Amino acid sequence: MDYAATTPVHPDVVKAMLPYFQDIFGNPSSVHSCGQEAKGGVEASRARLAEFLGAGPEEVVFTSGGTESDNFAIKGVAFANESKGNHIITTAIEHHAVLETCHFLEKRGFKLTVLPVDQYGMVDPADVKKAITAKTVLVSVMHASNEVGTIQPIAEIGKITREAGVYLHTDAVQTFAHLPIDVKKLNVDLLSLSGHKLYGPKGVGAIYIRKGTKIEPFMHGGGQEDGRRGSTYNVPGIVGLGKAVEIAQKEMNEEAERLVLLRNRLIKGFQKIEFVRLNGHPQKRLPNNVNVSVAFVEGEATLASLDFEGICASTGSACSSESSEPSHVLTAMHIPPEQARWSMRFTLGKWTTDAEVDRLLNLFPEIVAKLRAMSPLYKSMVKEK
Ligand code: PLP
Repeated sequence: MDYAATTPVHPDVVKAMLPYFQDIFGNPSSVHSCGQEAKGGVEASRARLAEFLGAGPEEVVFTSGGTESDNFAIKGVAFANESKGNHIITTAIEHHAVLETCHFLEKRGFKLTVLPVDQYGMVDPADVKKAITAKTVLVSVMHASNEVGTIQPIAEIGKITREAGVYLHTDAVQTFAHLPIDVKKLNVDLLSLSGHKLYGPKGVGAIYIRKGTKIEPFMHGGGQEDGRRGSTYNVPGIVGLGKAVEIAQKEMNEEAERLVLLRNRLIKGFQKIEFVRLNGHPQKRLPNNVNVSVAFVEGEATLASLDFEGICASTGSACSSESSEPSHVLTAMHIPPEQARWSMRFTLGKWTTDAEVDRLLNLFPEIVAKLRAMSPLYKSMVKEK
């Protein structure tokens, strides 16, 4: 139950990738037939992604994943537009790939505004409007939170940035191929996505760059991707990503409906336990995300007990779970640090079954009761009652 951290590769994706390791192994930049055959796989995948996004194929650039796409968007736009201004706007709940990139630029003289969110982790478009100055070159707001699942009003924010003549980037790593995305309707100029969150392979992703966007190349090298990102194409990875998107195009809507039912059942089940609160927006949330705080028990302790039972979940972002600091996302939502430590994230996916949700709901109250029995805080609270 940690599909937001990563997903298994779909068997059909593996099948589509295999020929590109040995039979169709040419370098897509080679002009001979062996290279051109491999290039065919790359371009078919690019066309597939472009179709999904409502973009042109020349607007899709392959990268090594979400982190690179975020770095590319933010540094690329910041460096290419320095003559216009040096102000960047982002939000307090972004993934570290966005936040750390913005802080890196801040250390190099760029001005950074980090917008707050409300108790549900929602950004107010009015705050974006207020923060834009004549020096603003880029706004970066994620499409949906990897931790609490809240879906942001990107189209509305996009209207504001378009009017102001400012670029808008969105990190859609958790939504791409899970929810329908039309870059024109979203009014975005740049969008990040990653293969391993949508039943594709790890180490491959893409960035949508709207035609006409002024952006510096991310990697200087052999001129691949129209000079925007040098380096030999990761052909099997790119082909796998394309296949994963093809499958999503067929299955995504039905799958989202199924997941919403499972998610809601899980939320209802958790809420039967005393002192459990749902983190994130009650409605505007990812179909597969359940983030709860179970008062008086450390999220880590509950997760360890669940792991012992063969259930894998997380406290938040897989990338930051090695840190003992409370989640920056929950902190931004005004959740006190001790309560943030009570949080847990369950993210469901293609192979999560009703029976698995039932098993979790059966085990969970007992685990919580055992841990609470060891909590002096809980004991004193019950005594007071
Ligand atoms: N952005 C978000 C919202 C994510 O959830 C993740 C991965 O957890 C990333 C970026 C990083 O993507 P990748 O692992 O492909 O570098």
